[in-house]
Amino acid sequence: MKILNLDALFALNCGMYIISSGYNDKYNGMIINALVQVTAFPNQIIASVNKESLTLKYIEKSGLFNISVLDKDAPLQLIGLFGFQTGKNIDKFSKIQFILGKNGIPIVNDHIVSYVETKVVSKLDAGTHVLFLGEVLESEFLTKAEPMTYNYYRDVKGGKVPRTAATFHPEEAEKIEIERHRCTVCGYIYDSRYGDPDSGVDCGVLFQDLPEDWVCPICGAKKDKFVKI
Ligand code: FE
Repeated sequence: MKILNLDALFALNCGMYIISSGYNDKYNGMIINALVQVTAFPNQIIASVNKESLTLKYIEKSGLFNISVLDKDAPLQLIGLFGFQTGKNIDKFSKIQFILGKNGIPIVNDHIVSYVETKVVSKLDAGTHVLFLGEVLESEFLTKAEPMTYNYYRDVKGGKVPRTAATFHPEEAEKIEIERHRCTVCGYIYDSRYGDPDSGVDCGVLFQDLPEDWVCPICGAKKDKFVKI
């Protein structure tokens, strides 16, 4: 069997988006990376949505979906809520600020660069996912912030480099004990050099000194789900 170099696929640039839909006054949304504008006349985008997701069920029923484009400073809690929690257990939109699009589907309105409202015009079975072709009904910029790319999320938000360059200085880092723990659920890495500023944990705090009720900022896993690396 041919061995693929999966790193090659990381060179395909992806964004960080929240795709949302709803049906009968119930809403749900999730993070997706596989999204692209495919035609300009008419304006159409393709979104790849996992078949297991509640969002897919709502898209199938309503024939509508919206895209909220995350900005670079979107906190890990927001990404975790939409990326690692399931709408089968919690009402994600009850936990954040949102507005309703003209198509009646919610749009996240915090840490969002822009949004796109669509109606489904076609779909393709892609095995684990369904590819939805959406015709753009409305689109708007909310801020001039930069959009977050998937690589930025992986490399910067994941902790491989300082998250907030303004508060992080290399000379300070040398005084800090370096210790890293990986979340076995989602792969997030807690690095003592950077702490977890989104949760109020300063840089320099060792994993063992994190409060017992501290949870993974991405997936919500407890401390005992972490392993030292
Ligand atoms: Fe996690």
